[in-house]
Amino acid sequence: YTQAKALVYSKYGEPKDVLNLHKHSISAPHGTQVNLRLLAAPMNPADVNQIQGVYPSKPPFETSLGTVEPSAVGGNEGAFEVISTGAGVKNLSKGDWVIMKRTGLGTWRTHAQLDESQLIRIENKEGLTPLQIGTVSVNPVTAYRMIRDFCDWDWMRAGEEWMIQNGANSGVGRAAIQLGREWGIKTLNVVRQRKTPEETEALKQELKELGATVVVTEEEMLTGSFRDMVKEVTRQGREPIRLALNCVGGKNATALAKTLSPDSHMVTYGAMSKQPVALPSGLLIFKNLVFDGFWVSRWGDKNPQLKENTIKDVLQLIRTGRFKDIPVDNVEWNWKSEGPQLAENVQGTLGGYRSGKGVFTF
Ligand code: NDP
Repeated sequence: YTQAKALVYSKYGEPKDVLNLHKHSISAPHGTQVNLRLLAAPMNPADVNQIQGVYPSKPPFETSLGTVEPSAVGGNEGAFEVISTGAGVKNLSKGDWVIMKRTGLGTWRTHAQLDESQLIRIENKEGLTPLQIGTVSVNPVTAYRMIRDFCDWDWMRAGEEWMIQNGANSGVGRAAIQLGREWGIKTLNVVRQRKTPEETEALKQELKELGATVVVTEEEMLTGSFRDMVKEVTRQGREPIRLALNCVGGKNATALAKTLSPDSHMVTYGAMSKQPVALPSGLLIFKNLVFDGFWVSRWGDKNPQLKENTIKDVLQLIRTGRFKDIPVDNVEWNWKSEGPQLAENVQGTLGGYRSGKGVFTF
């Protein structure tokens, strides 16, 4: 038996109120079962929404971990190490690093027992860290697919076309900047102003070092001079802005849409401001803009092989030093960690103006 602890919830609510640390034991793996140890699992905004009960995918509440009430384990992505395998396991062995094929399996746990079929083995893990593997399947995959699947690549002229995005300092935003740089797409990036001008400047500089072409604050974007600035950097529109990535909504999203050239796409993938997306009718009538949404969970379930290939591509960029780590706030989870303290870290995820993404490491 392996002793294990998991952050579970049996009703929806705020993470600090409903998450409990549940201790249980895991038996030796049978058949195609695999026993795993946590390496690193991030706290993503969607994980909190899921616990609040406001996210469309809801993991089933079960008693399989021996909880008094039927419960679900929090977290949707992470890197794990194989510690033992059942006799029927074909493609995994002790010491392999794996990630989960689908979301919703619960990753905030020190150990897990899953079926081989639920796991993706990381080939050639040398040169990669648990953090890189534990955060590859949601944010970078989202950025990658939104850029590849909503741009007309036949039309694109490398180095002369743009994309614009808000939430540019998020995990997805940083991935989009770096993929844009790799693929010859200039990026106009919008972030929220920080407390001091120095901090704002430092954030702009940080994103430029990742490859951002231009970084502006939301406040700058919402002033009258933004239009002229866009004209100037895009050489009076000769370098068209073909794609907008929106994870904020509200006025911010409207301002992004207004910069797009005719027939371009705006892909909405988040709603951090909780404000609806409002669109001037002219953008639809005269510019023929297309407004799409993207949800990586559904996309991944429909395209499992393409998802694996996308992950492999990103990991290859990481190995060759062309894709930098996101800033993180490491939360070390050990045997002494208490439930309320771990839950408090989850609670902070939607706080805003954070220095890094919270990541559990074990
Ligand atoms: P991170 O945790 O890395 O970053 C959060 C981002 O949200 C920061 O840029 C932060 O900016 C911004 N933010 C927080 N609160 C607000 C607010 N009130 N108004 C405007 N911006 C705000 O996020 P992720 O990269 O993991 O996720 C970013 C977004 O993308 C989320 O909305 C998430 O749900 C969504 N997402 C969607 C996916 C999909 O498939 N549709 C997949 C992955 C993510 P600041 O630093 O200024 O606070």
